[in-house]
Amino acid sequence: MSHSENTTPDNTAEDAAATIYGPSDHLIRKNLIDDDAKKICYRLQRAGFKAYVVGGGVRDLTLGKEPKDFDISTDATPREIKSLFRNCRIIGRRFKLAHLYFAHGKNIEVSTFRDTIDPPEPTEGDQSAAGPVLNDNIYGTEVSDAFRRDITINGLFLDVSTMEILDYVGGMQDLRDGIVRVIGEPIQRFREDPVRMLRVVRHSARNGFRIESGCWTSILENAELITQSSQVRVFDELKKDFSSGCFLTILHLLGETGILEYILPELLENNGRLLSAESDFSQCLERVDDLVVEGEPVSATVILTIIAMFTAGDSIWLADLAERLPEASDLSERLSSCFTRLVVPKKERERIQLLLGLWSKVRGISPKALKPNAYKRSPILPDLVALLEITCLTREDAQRVQLLRPLLHLDDDHSHDGHHHHRKPHR
Ligand code: ATP
Ligand code: MG
Repeated sequence: MSHSENTTPDNTAEDAAATIYGPSDHLIRKNLIDDDAKKICYRLQRAGFKAYVVGGGVRDLTLGKEPKDFDISTDATPREIKSLFRNCRIIGRRFKLAHLYFAHGKNIEVSTFRDTIDPPEPTEGDQSAAGPVLNDNIYGTEVSDAFRRDITINGLFLDVSTMEILDYVGGMQDLRDGIVRVIGEPIQRFREDPVRMLRVVRHSARNGFRIESGCWTSILENAELITQSSQVRVFDELKKDFSSGCFLTILHLLGETGILEYILPELLENNGRLLSAESDFSQCLERVDDLVVEGEPVSATVILTIIAMFTAGDSIWLADLAERLPEASDLSERLSSCFTRLVVPKKERERIQLLLGLWSKVRGISPKALKPNAYKRSPILPDLVALLEITCLTREDAQRVQLLRPLLHLDDDHSHDGHHHHRKPHR
């Protein structure tokens, strides 16, 4: 697997010059950038440091989308950042970065420029919890920080003072052309951190961008590398896929690349009939994606439960599942055969089992006999309602959702109305 090739990729960090896109060369307007993110940059710059909005924020704004969050990169060290901001906490062990905290639970990540280094190639069967990403705890320069990033469209730097975009990696052109391209040599970057293969797929699906052909080939040839990655990180990236609004597309791409075999092989059984367009599994995931796009997030528990119930029930038809899913007593045994390649945390497995048990039970009760109050106190009521809604087939299914849904709003009133009439009792 390891060629002793010392060739450097074309876009090497050394002596790289940025292409600078002025305010009239892109669509980002200052008022679209989060006020706190701007203030952080201004304060760092006034103190003599460099500071840029980086990563997904610049990408999404350039595409005319609303970013999920704004990350900042700077040449100030975490210690220097902390001395400038009171609302700052330093996190991380190997690579330290600063989190700045704001009202309503908002926080903005301020990261010191990272170095691009060639970490040692993962040794055969290296399963250490940390995974192959090593030695990241070295600060770098603006240039190295651009080149250590995963794909070109994520490698842009925005200076909020001048509203210039600094592009060291060709990301602007790729944004315009709709291309996902790895920064540097794909195989090398995937060996350093196999999770990047998942990121390539996600960003392609999310934006409808095509994957650059060398990158695509490299993933096809090296899909198995994903098994070298930290299981925790794979699960974390997969959760981002869940909430992407295009999870079904991502699953198809992961299937095509061969990666799926190493993380969710259960979806490939029986010639991949679960992923065929007509299966109820696909229909359910389409509903999940629709809900997410409409701004109604679906929890990871619900999505994992959908995967689990079709796997454990061994059918692509919802109508079969209710009778095929065993009683709660041996449900846990059935569930232990799900997620064989994915490390799902124990707590999450317990929630899945609880939710699946409740779902089966409720589906077995006729709407007339259903007593909504019995579920009022269930900690997973929102997930139960979401799952019933996503798996709704018949008029009776719809009636059950209608009976249980109002309980959610009851709950809402209690938590949000605290400042009105009734004060929350001390517990
Ligand atoms: P999202 O909109 O999902 O948050 P994002 O691009 O901001 O997308 P993050 O996971 O928040 O994704 O990462 C922030 C930035 O950090 C990315 O834009 C990318 O530049 C860089 N990055 C993240 N993960 C990696 C990785 N595995 N290897 C290299 N760079 C990475
Ligand atoms: Mg982000």
